Amino acid sequence: MEQLIDIGVNLADKQFQDEQHEVIERAFQFGVNQMILTGSSIKSSKESLEIAKNYPNRLFSTAGIHPHDAKHFSNQTIYELEILANHDEVVAIGECGLDFNRMFSPQDIQEECFDAHLLLARKLSMPLFLHERDAQNRFCEIFANYRDLTENSVVHCFTGNEEQVKKYVSMGFYIGVTGWICDERRGQDLQNAVKFIPLNRLLIETDAPYLLPRNLENKPKNRRNEPAFLPHIVKEIAKYMGVTPEEVVKHSTANARKLFSLPDV
Ligand SMILES: [Zn+2]
Repeated sequence: MEQLIDIGVNLADKQFQDEQHEVIERAFQFGVNQMILTGSSIKSSKESLEIAKNYPNRLFSTAGIHPHDAKHFSNQTIYELEILANHDEVVAIGECGLDFNRMFSPQDIQEECFDAHLLLARKLSMPLFLHERDAQNRFCEIFANYRDLTENSVVHCFTGNEEQVKKYVSMGFYIGVTGWICDERRGQDLQNAVKFIPLNRLLIETDAPYLLPRNLENKPKNRRNEPAFLPHIVKEIAKYMGVTPEEVVKHSTANARKLFSLPDV
């Protein structure tokens, strides 16, 4: 298989502690040549940047505050994100967005935090790495003020249905698909929805260490997902899109390079 790009790896997660190098090397062995490490707090954004610096042109990172953590957000936070975003390795603002599934932060605080990220992305002309769970209507309402940003943004870990994917595609977003599609029960909506993602809007990701593909053969005992499992997810995406795995790789790699301005390696 050609080169793959995993656009969502939470490598700063404590589940990868002391094993980051091995995990990265295993990913390279399986053709995952470039990865974007997800920053979801100031701490993980800093750690992701530090890891990325050790793998020039191969690893990159994002800088943002997950909606779950919005309650810890302040003006100082957004200033710190801007400093981080000025590093060459940081290729997107996020992860940021809305999560009304578990409401770990109150809705008004989530929206305030999200808005600050959108303004920062506009100010710095940077792509956005977006998270949305059970909040599509409000998410789209907020984006009505940021229509200039949608074509430079990815809705990561999309898990919704046909109607929801059509809405995002019509607004111009890239769509990030994870191993959620491998779940025979929870993944049914997504299995049906992916065929409505145009190949020029498709991005692929593991969201490791979360979302271990449920139909993976020889699952690791620790149940931890890794970027090395991305080729398995590609096969499932291809099956439900009705294209070849090679096409999924070719297009998702080209899309990731274009959106995040990654070098060809
Ligand atoms: Zn997320």
